[in-house]
Amino acid sequence: MNHTKSEQLHAEALEHIVGGVNSPSRSYKAVGGGAPVVMVRGKGAYFWDVDGNRYIDYLAAYGPIVTGHGHPHIAKAIAHAAETGVLFGTPTEHEIKFAKMLKEAIPTLDKVRFNNSGTEAVMTCVRVARAFTGRTKIIKFAGCYHGHFDQVLVAAGSGPATLGSPDSAGVPHAVATEVITVPFNNQEQFTLAMEKWGNDVAGILIEPIVGNFGIVEPHKGFLEHVHALAKEYGALTIHDEVITAFRFHYGAAHTMLGLTPDLVAMGKVIGGGLPIGAYGGRKEVMETVAPLGPAYQAGTMAGNPASMQAGIACLEVLQQPGIYEEMDRLGALLEEGILAAAKKHNVTITLNRLKGAFAIYFTDVKVENYEQAENTDGEKFGRFFKLMLSQGINLAPSKYEAWFLTTEHTEADVEETLKAVDYAFSQL
Ligand code: PMP
Repeated sequence: MNHTKSEQLHAEALEHIVGGVNSPSRSYKAVGGGAPVVMVRGKGAYFWDVDGNRYIDYLAAYGPIVTGHGHPHIAKAIAHAAETGVLFGTPTEHEIKFAKMLKEAIPTLDKVRFNNSGTEAVMTCVRVARAFTGRTKIIKFAGCYHGHFDQVLVAAGSGPATLGSPDSAGVPHAVATEVITVPFNNQEQFTLAMEKWGNDVAGILIEPIVGNFGIVEPHKGFLEHVHALAKEYGALTIHDEVITAFRFHYGAAHTMLGLTPDLVAMGKVIGGGLPIGAYGGRKEVMETVAPLGPAYQAGTMAGNPASMQAGIACLEVLQQPGIYEEMDRLGALLEEGILAAAKKHNVTITLNRLKGAFAIYFTDVKVENYEQAENTDGEKFGRFFKLMLSQGINLAPSKYEAWFLTTEHTEADVEETLKAVDYAFSQL
């Protein structure tokens, strides 16, 4: 497969755009380097690069593209917005309609507010939790990603009872010491952290189903324990559903799990591919937000008619019967085929899957927390990634990212993918 134009464009991009990419995860640094493939066009489950190569897309733009590229219903909504005005700086009917749709699908949302990215949504949830409780500390879980604002770019201290340290240059130490990081799926360590800091904790921030070190489901009872202790200590629960909302069913992951968080952050899928974030939750908590309350959050682009109409159209597509069942069915076929190919070629992997999202780990350990994901073979993943890419299968260039199916993938795509997996495993 020829990537000459991608290579030329990447060289040019390096002259003008820092690192040649607008988000670090798009670089191929984590898979042994090289020029990231430059895409020009997408349709359904496929996209094409500048050299004319066609790929089956399992990246799905890191989650949002659940209905595939250029879905006609969403394209029509975006075209309508383009023709009738993409931004007014006033309320519109679209945002009311969309808020009602989200509330209907996710009953924990008494009130919502739209903004422009997952980062903004989570950042505001943290501020609102602090405003509501009058406390400052946040507990988060190792390996969960919540965006790129200061408070969540914090690494764990040396144990559950220690405060965090900055994970990025530019994050002040004083900010990091307001954050405690504990391992996911570890009830004991979470309890220890709450025993030490519980009365100062404003919010407990968690991905209810992890999508940032592959796909990792909570152990039975783990989230219930987190919720129970939060209640006991008067801390709020904040579910980061930026990946999970509308990914596994028509609604949020917490609904599937039978939980009632105080605040929920969303993004990705709900924008139908356009920039979006949203947060919502319990009425009393949400009424802390300006103009009703003292917690400030605003946005020139927030609730813009284009993102609202694309989001409404995307949810309309997802309302069609059988959509999620089909992604689950194809996910199961991929899982079965990949595991069989691994066995055939003696490649050691474990695989975590929930419906249409899954992750392959090059390890013999079942991955249930970040440490286990860290300890998987990244070098082997890098080679696997490139072998797949060269056969027209596009994965995220990181061992920590999931594969996402869309409503447009077919059984023929699965077959083509499994053939590529068979070859890749034979070469590892
Ligand atoms: N939360 C989670 C769980 C995410 O996966 C991401 C992005 N990968 C974010 C928040 C941040 O969203 P955005 O990139 O839209 O700011």
